[in-house]
Amino acid sequence: MSKILSMRELVPTIFEAVVEAPEIARKAKAGEFLVVMPDEKGERVPLTIADFDREKGTITIVFMAIGTSTYKLAAMKAGQSYYAFVGPLGHASEIKNHGTVVLVAGGVGTAPIYPIAREMKKAGNKVICIQGARTKDLLFWQDKIATVCDEHIITTDDGTFARKGLVTEPLKEICEREKVAIVYAIGPVPMMKFCSLTTKPFGVKTIVSLNSIMIDATGMCGGCRVNVGGETKFTCVDGPEFDGHQVDWNLLTSRQKIYLAEEKCSLQKYVEEAKK
Ligand SMILES: Cc1cc2nc3c(=O)[nH]c(=O)nc-3n(C[C@H](O)[C@H](O)[C@H](O)COP(=O)(O)OP(=O)(O)OC[C@H]3O[C@@H](n4cnc5c(N)ncnc54)[C@H](O)[C@@H]3O)c2cc1C
Repeated sequence: MSKILSMRELVPTIFEAVVEAPEIARKAKAGEFLVVMPDEKGERVPLTIADFDREKGTITIVFMAIGTSTYKLAAMKAGQSYYAFVGPLGHASEIKNHGTVVLVAGGVGTAPIYPIAREMKKAGNKVICIQGARTKDLLFWQDKIATVCDEHIITTDDGTFARKGLVTEPLKEICEREKVAIVYAIGPVPMMKFCSLTTKPFGVKTIVSLNSIMIDATGMCGGCRVNVGGETKFTCVDGPEFDGHQVDWNLLTSRQKIYLAEEKCSLQKYVEEAKK
């Protein structure tokens, strides 16, 4: 049982929880993920490590409430404990001195980008962060991101804050402007796909963190399978980070939609129960 030390809504529908988990914090590395279960009957929800503090023994998660399980997580308060909080899982990001690293964060993807940016900076890289959101009210952790990068570009799709447009526009300009060693892009699937398409003509290695539907997160069930470079890979044990130029984006997109009807029905039931 892992206790929630603090819980807050960062922006509408996006929540941050700081969790007491000294064993995980001791081993955690940027890029890894956890499986969180709100209660005994809940789903196993995969969430990327958004921050860790080895001295305090805490792990931070940031999640968007979009369905039954994330609604359940959002309803939990500081002082309560998760039924399960398992990790760290998956492979960590490759932290070393690459040279110039561009980190592109889309929406809730800002959270997993933060520890990668921090560790890349510590490793001596020039770190450029591009942080994008649909609108000003959905931007969070700008101050935190600013502390771990040399250049920080913010975009909003509707132009309500900073630069109007998509993250791919400054990404292309940076690739034209200077030699970029590696790009990390984390966010919604279309955003990661288009970041990969943007960097491909420049030959810049681009790593994406895939959020395929995952069930057991141990490599047993095959639910999170993706196709990368013509080979079947499991996001849980082979990823979650993959070469964005090799990912079969169409397959990932279609597999993410396979349970839409069940998810809708489950959420409706959950909301009706909660009203009673
Ligand atoms: C390795 C990994 C790391 C992730 N990290 C984060 C994170 O840091 N923050 C965050 O907000 N989200 C993250 N996700 C996505 C998150 O797990 C899903 O949003 C969550 O499971 C949705 O569950 P739900 O019951 O609330 O929604 P549902 O109504 O069940 O589903 C809503 C949508 O979420 C996706 N989804 C549903 N179930 C799963 C599942 N078991 N695994 C993955 N995706 C699912 C599908 O696209 C689905 O259409 C991550 C996913 C993976 C695989």
